Amino acid sequence: MRAMKRVLSGIQPTGAIHIGNYLGAIKQWVEIGERLGKDALFCIVDYHALTNPDAYDPERLPQRTFEAALANMAAGLDPEKITLFVQSHVPEHTELSWIFTTQTPVGDLTRMTQYKDKSAKLKSVPAGLLMYPVLQAADILIYKADTVPVGEDQLQHLELTREIARRFNHAFGDTFPEPKALLNPKAPRVPGIDGAAKMSKSVGNTIELLEEPKSIWEKLRAAPTDPARVRRNDPGDPSRCLIFKYHTYFSPPEVQEAVAEGCRTAGIGCVDCKKLLFDRMMEVLGPIQERAAELRQNPEVVEAALEDGARRARAIAQETMHEVRVKIGLYKP
Ligand code: ATP
Repeated sequence: MRAMKRVLSGIQPTGAIHIGNYLGAIKQWVEIGERLGKDALFCIVDYHALTNPDAYDPERLPQRTFEAALANMAAGLDPEKITLFVQSHVPEHTELSWIFTTQTPVGDLTRMTQYKDKSAKLKSVPAGLLMYPVLQAADILIYKADTVPVGEDQLQHLELTREIARRFNHAFGDTFPEPKALLNPKAPRVPGIDGAAKMSKSVGNTIELLEEPKSIWEKLRAAPTDPARVRRNDPGDPSRCLIFKYHTYFSPPEVQEAVAEGCRTAGIGCVDCKKLLFDRMMEVLGPIQERAAELRQNPEVVEAALEDGARRARAIAQETMHEVRVKIGLYKP
């Protein structure tokens, strides 16, 4: 892994954390946290979650935020080592975001693919959805993070963050680094269980990290495989099969080779191949689910971790905001 000094990444409390979030982002966060300690900052981005009118529910947001923190901790993020916090507990994010909106051309925002996709599904598009990547830039730059571990879906937003940093530095003097994305090369874009779109909380095509094993199996059982394998004896092409893709995330190379060969020669049926995957998947998810159950018994551990994380994050954010306020010429008697 390349050299990095400070890292920031976030996750939306828009629904249950899924294996796409885990493989694409959280797994890397855990590894980075082991190396960087407190300079590895991870936040539950609740202000971002408000931009999705379909998923946002004020009654459920507190529980979803708590659950997101719990799932991340169960997946291996240790808040004693790293900095884990809730975005809205550090109000400087939104303050910096406002300043960036005044420096960002609207055209830069309307061309964002995620904005185009999400806004196309809405009758009335909130302005916050358009501003989403500006707030994301503030999340990152307020800590002067140099590295942002993300899935492929966030690369365009990160490029915009770099432009926002460049523009600010040009106008007001050198202030922000231009942060680089860090992809998990093995799982930059985990497909959803529908076999069509990217796995996404808001699409509802997920396998949840903390989902009941029985429910996971039901989803796998119903999942599409290579359409060419209509009958048990038809040979298949693993490269066209969603289940094989999932094997590449969870199964060791010898299992991957065996199921690929079995698929090509019709030596193994799709249901047996799915059972093998399910067992391997539960070897990874089982211990995470056990830790989650323990944490659920002790919610005060999660709450204390978030309070402590916000305190530490805020100290850094306030320092940056002080520098920014002076540089942009805000009046201070
Ligand atoms: P939503 O559906 O509400 O937009 P999401 O499921 O796409 O949410 P986010 O909370 O926006 O997830 O993303 C959290 C992190 O997980 C980001 O780093 C993102 O790049 C990564 N991520 C999300 N989905 C996937 C996926 N299918 N494969 C790999 N990484 C992913």
